Amino acid sequence: MKEFWSKRIREMTPYVPGEQPRDRIFIKLNTNECPYPPSPRALEAIRAAAGDGLRLYPDPECLELRQTIARRYRVSQNQVFVGNGSDEILAFAFQAFFDPEREIVFPRVSYSFYPVYTQYFGLNCRRVEMNPDFSVPVDALCGDNGGVVLANPNAPTGMALTLDEVERLVQSNPQAVVIVDEAYVDFGADSAVPLIQSYPNLLVVQTASKSRALAGLRVGWAMGNSNLINALRCVRDCFNSYTVDRVAAAGLKAAMEDEGYFQSIRGRVMAARDKTARRLSDLGFTVLPSRANFLFVTYPGLSGAALQDGLREKGILVRRWDDPVIADWLRITVGTDQEMDVLLRALSELTGA
Ligand SMILES: *Cc1c(COP(=O)(O)O)cnc(C)c1O
Repeated sequence: MKEFWSKRIREMTPYVPGEQPRDRIFIKLNTNECPYPPSPRALEAIRAAAGDGLRLYPDPECLELRQTIARRYRVSQNQVFVGNGSDEILAFAFQAFFDPEREIVFPRVSYSFYPVYTQYFGLNCRRVEMNPDFSVPVDALCGDNGGVVLANPNAPTGMALTLDEVERLVQSNPQAVVIVDEAYVDFGADSAVPLIQSYPNLLVVQTASKSRALAGLRVGWAMGNSNLINALRCVRDCFNSYTVDRVAAAGLKAAMEDEGYFQSIRGRVMAARDKTARRLSDLGFTVLPSRANFLFVTYPGLSGAALQDGLREKGILVRRWDDPVIADWLRITVGTDQEMDVLLRALSELTGA
């Protein structure tokens, strides 16, 4: 029943996030969280921020945090925006940069929030088909578009474009903003951040949720020309001046200052990913080359649904989509080495390999 709902909301099909189980204990390989805890320095800063200061509103401009991010990525603080997770920043960017009259483009197989935002904000999109090997069809995204949205590495394939390819895309859309969603870039892809100095139409979005093990804190950031950053501030200030709370700002700042811990956990995830990919290939799986903290895999002769259900019965959650192009593929988050051992044992039982 949708009585009292506005017309617009009645017609919305919202994004469905991966399951967060409450009832039984699963090995959770379905939402690309980090298997390791956040930086101890971040946790200490979070505890310190959870005190008397919470009486006061946070700094709406998050100046200290933006300075830290600016130093870390060698940009200036007026080229940095922070928000309540990168999903929120993406939502702001769709409103800030796109108009219904000019069609935006993104790959057919990509982050499922993009079509939801397109509908929610009354925009029009063209979804371009993937190359046969599931790579992003760069040429099809070049041209006179109303905007481009690219996840690099892409989700859920895990495949990445080179920096040259991203630059070609940005260069070939001079009249439109190109959003590069780098949620997974720290797991081995090239970041487009150095390009923001040369291209006033490029916005790069990153998050603390994956490579910095802070999905529960809800904080992300965007980097781009200060003109683009000001448009994001304008959208935010029409909606909620305080999207990043004191605890989140302190936690991300400390996490960014703990470079050693960051390097160590992303290294462990990448090593486990490459080892798991080899073992899955040995079992007979087709595994796309991943630059992310997950693997996108299929098994000849078994449906994706059967594999997903079989894993669930064995206490392992993975993600799958109904789009026929990828319905037989599973997206498996890279967990700890022990979790990967359990996964591989389960898959070898299910496939009889
Ligand atoms: C996880 C993810 C995000 C969302 O990250 P939050 O910062 O947790 O909102 C954005 N884009 C892609 C492609 C993701 O996979």
